[in-house]
Amino acid sequence: MSETGQIGIVEHAKPGLHGGPMSNSSQTGATDSRSAQARLTVQCCVVGGGPAGMMLGYLLGRAGIKTIVLEKHADFFRDFRGDTVHPSTMQVMQELGLLDDFLKLPHQNVAQLEGLFGTTSIRLADLSTLDAPCRYIAFMPQWDFLNFLSGKGKQFSSLDVRMSTEAVELVQGGDRVSGVVARSGDRMLHIEASLVVACDGRHSITREQAEMPIHEIGAPIDVLWFRVGKPTGATDGMFARVQAGQFMITLDRDTYWQCAYVIGKGQFDAVKARGLDAFKARVAQMAPILKPHIDDVKGWDDVRLLSVQIDRLTRWARPGFLCIGDAAHAMSPVGGVGVNLAVQDAVATANLLYDKFGGSGPTLAELDRVQERRMFPVRATQAIQVAVQNKLINRAISDAQFDPPLALRIVNKLPFLQHLTARVIGLGVRPEHVQSPESKPV
Ligand SMILES: Cc1cc2nc3c(=O)[nH]c(=O)nc-3n(C[C@H](O)[C@H](O)[C@H](O)COP(=O)(O)OP(=O)(O)OC[C@H]3O[C@@H](n4cnc5c(N)ncnc54)[C@H](O)[C@@H]3O)c2cc1C
Repeated sequence: MSETGQIGIVEHAKPGLHGGPMSNSSQTGATDSRSAQARLTVQCCVVGGGPAGMMLGYLLGRAGIKTIVLEKHADFFRDFRGDTVHPSTMQVMQELGLLDDFLKLPHQNVAQLEGLFGTTSIRLADLSTLDAPCRYIAFMPQWDFLNFLSGKGKQFSSLDVRMSTEAVELVQGGDRVSGVVARSGDRMLHIEASLVVACDGRHSITREQAEMPIHEIGAPIDVLWFRVGKPTGATDGMFARVQAGQFMITLDRDTYWQCAYVIGKGQFDAVKARGLDAFKARVAQMAPILKPHIDDVKGWDDVRLLSVQIDRLTRWARPGFLCIGDAAHAMSPVGGVGVNLAVQDAVATANLLYDKFGGSGPTLAELDRVQERRMFPVRATQAIQVAVQNKLINRAISDAQFDPPLALRIVNKLPFLQHLTARVIGLGVRPEHVQSPESKPV
């Protein structure tokens, strides 16, 4: 393992190439056009700076493991990112001593999840009775959450987060993964690592290159994602709306509404064929609160198609390689739990592996323990998502006369059931607690 006093990671110019070591982009951002390639050795290389990757990077960096996180985008500011931070994630933040600062970021608290079915309002979950430090879901743009983790992670000399750096190839020899080749601008980075963790999401190229076996579950829906301006203070307290063959979620982002309009799988062209005005009229009729600014949607370019997919790997690890988060199990938006599940995976991974980086790194048996720990929560959550997608949402968008199902009407009447749904949504199945330590600087 190579080390420097400052960041604990050293890059070597590739033999035979011009130029010296590539600079640490997170520290200088300097470019040396002569060093077109560089080599680097770390203990753990995390591919992808989403919730799973940033949390894992933070935890391993905190534990003193020399870790690099590669994120292909220059920043976290992309329009689509799941925006819900659940009580389980805030519990983790509290265990890390980060909660007070985290809650200073702008966010909206939602303790009761309500759905409007035609004209009938149904309370789906009440988080206010949970046994957790935060008894609500915090709606916060995910880029704020990721920037926060990235900023807090800068205190750890073992952690190096590289933006604009895309993993393009897994380095494999026999059955073992030993590193990653990444591209940063016009430069190539050869990273040798005892462990590569794929956190590159549902379209993971690393899991594809590692030929990990996938169990496709599929989803009958897609989502149209768009935003509509919001006068300050305007709200109607509604989260989900079901009406005359339509289903929509409206997320309050303070100055605008982030809208998620559900359509049948592959139906976007049919929606477009009916025309933009017809689409806007249906949306505004369904959610009158959007009417004043519905013309913010000026063209189909303002409406993004988000493809919903549910799958999971049947094997999460190979020697030197592990998948977590959506790379191991792509989650549907149902319940808004994917971000939190990704964070929980990261916590479990750090708990199980932080002390396994001596010698040549975690063994396959040790990596398999992450899957053993996390597979049950993933299966259970995906089973609930599939049931809600098929029995509720898909039926709601196919049936103009859709009434709230009996089960939801019972939940609406019985507060203890609203507590139960809140537990499943807010804390999830088998919540994780931080056990990986903070290594004190020497
Ligand atoms: C329509 C829709 C709405 C959703 N809404 C919510 C919601 O409101 N709340 C919620 O909790 N969940 C939601 N989800 C699920 C949620 O988005 C995911 O479960 C969650 O983002 C998974 O986190 P992750 O870190 O595993 O992956 P991701 O969030 O996908 O992050 C992967 C990261 O890897 C980077 N990356 C990819 N390839 C490379 C590469 N080769 N090199 C370097 N970097 C790379 C990407 O840029 C990205 O930053 C939704 C899903 C869908 C489809």
